[in-house]
Amino acid sequence: MTAALLLATLLAQAGAGAPPRGLTCLTRWYDGEVQHQPDAGWGLTLSNGVFVPWTSRTDGVGVDPEGEAIPSLADIYEPPYAAGPIVPVDTSDAGSPVDPGRARVEELFRATYGASRDAVQARLTKVRFFGLRYPFHERAAPALERVVARLQEALKHEPKLLPFLREIGGTWHWRTIKRSRALSSHAFGIAIDINVERSNYWRWTYRGQPMVWKNRVPQAVVDAFEAEGFIWGGRWKHYDTMHFEYRPELLSPDCR
Ligand SMILES: [Zn+2]
Repeated sequence: MTAALLLATLLAQAGAGAPPRGLTCLTRWYDGEVQHQPDAGWGLTLSNGVFVPWTSRTDGVGVDPEGEAIPSLADIYEPPYAAGPIVPVDTSDAGSPVDPGRARVEELFRATYGASRDAVQARLTKVRFFGLRYPFHERAAPALERVVARLQEALKHEPKLLPFLREIGGTWHWRTIKRSRALSSHAFGIAIDINVERSNYWRWTYRGQPMVWKNRVPQAVVDAFEAEGFIWGGRWKHYDTMHFEYRPELLSPDCR
């Protein structure tokens, strides 16, 4: 960057005030640089050169050409994800219409973890999880290893946790979300499904039956994951209690 360009950038940013805290926070875990553009405002310039604005759509959530919602970076934090004691989720129409942490900006994930199946696969490592080794993205693997250490400690007091951690559903799988074109967080190697038999999933509701939140996953399992930056699908209206996903920005109080 030339001195003149640097000066112009600094002046533009001075005029824009400070960047949103949640935006700056993203750069701790994702590949992007906070920048301000005169017409688009604050945003991240990703490692591939693409600029993703903080709030890109006036109505909060945009829609792609086929009618599917595209979240903006600011939407990542809405509604806020609340860790801690397990709270039943009101799945009725009157309850919250949304799932904290389920808004993902795919461009950000692609720039950070890999833009294709091969690119992600090249950066997978293996993490031992209660008997077997599973592929996980190298950037999220240390956090999963710390979860395992916490769970091993918890097992000393609660041996009944073990069946939830054995014969797990899996980790990396390059696939889209069911009935959507968006890539699942499993595609990026940052999600793990624990034991499926002991889990509950909103799509398992019988046709014609009202969707009612159910959960059997113990608090100690949820605590171990959340302590290391993983969100839990059991906090969603579209509940998926086997699912844990590495989203440290949602579990850092200073990012809100
Ligand atoms: Zn999952």
